[in-house]
Amino acid sequence: MAADTKARVKERTEELKNTYHVTPGLAVVIVGDDPASRVYVNNKKKACEAVGFVSEEYALPAETTQEELLALVETLNNKPDINGILVQLPLPKHLDDKAVIAAINPQKDVDAFHAVNVGKIMLGEYDFLPCTPAGVMEMLHSYQIPVEGKECVVIGRSNIVGKPMGMLLLHENGTVTICHSRTKNLAEVCRRADILVAAVGIPKFVKADMVKEGAVVIDVGMDRDENGKLCGDVDFENVKEKCSFITPVPGGVGPMTIATLMKNTLKACKLQNNIAD
Ligand code: NAP
Repeated sequence: MAADTKARVKERTEELKNTYHVTPGLAVVIVGDDPASRVYVNNKKKACEAVGFVSEEYALPAETTQEELLALVETLNNKPDINGILVQLPLPKHLDDKAVIAAINPQKDVDAFHAVNVGKIMLGEYDFLPCTPAGVMEMLHSYQIPVEGKECVVIGRSNIVGKPMGMLLLHENGTVTICHSRTKNLAEVCRRADILVAAVGIPKFVKADMVKEGAVVIDVGMDRDENGKLCGDVDFENVKEKCSFITPVPGGVGPMTIATLMKNTLKACKLQNNIAD
């Protein structure tokens, strides 16, 4: 699915280049040397190259100051060949990620983390959707899994995944419950779910006894198991026997997130150049 989405973006990018002589451009900013962030940034760069975007990487040292980072964001805001700005999170502790996100021009905020874009999502009138929840919705649509009237349980309430995930499921008329570390009787709540989305960040957290027979299980987690191997928030081997659909890790949500980032950057380019969808 991710490959199909990227193929469509590539086709549209060719059309934009040929018809309007514009090429979508994404700037990725990474501060410090967190190995996971490095992998994500490399994957995003590769995807940009594959779909024909201009891709710029700004790798800043861990000791970068808030002022320096904000100055870079401002430069990128004013750079006409850059349509999307992505600041890879998490930032080193001395930097204020909220202030950095707030400084990004909302039209270039292809992660959809800026308060303006978050507000638009709440209202259901958005330009961009956050990449991970949007990728999940695309998977549900593609596999023709109905959301309307279904019990949807999201574990995790981060601004990046859990909250917007709940909102998108709600927009499609799911009955949504968002769980977090203070939720009581979590397993019982999860067992109600027709659609269960795990975005917790704890390896293999969701066990088979937390899943209803026939449920759809979406694993957003990108964790490391006891051997340092990439795994998800769901105990895949045991849970897969119970559910009707399950997304694997690696694979699944991760590639869809990057494909959605490509879609958002293409859209940003069209918006900034007044090109109809
Ligand atoms: P996060 O900001 O750390 O949020 C984790 C959420 O899980 C919090 O809301 C937390 O509750 C909740 N939680 C923690 N322990 C819990 C427990 N024992 N019971 C119930 N809830 C619990 O993480 P995130 O940024 O949303 O990411 C979640 C996972 O998704 C991570 O593995 C991350 O690597 C992965 N991720 C993947 C992609 C992708 O492209 N596939 C993209 C983004 C993130 P409180 O709010 O109460 O603390």
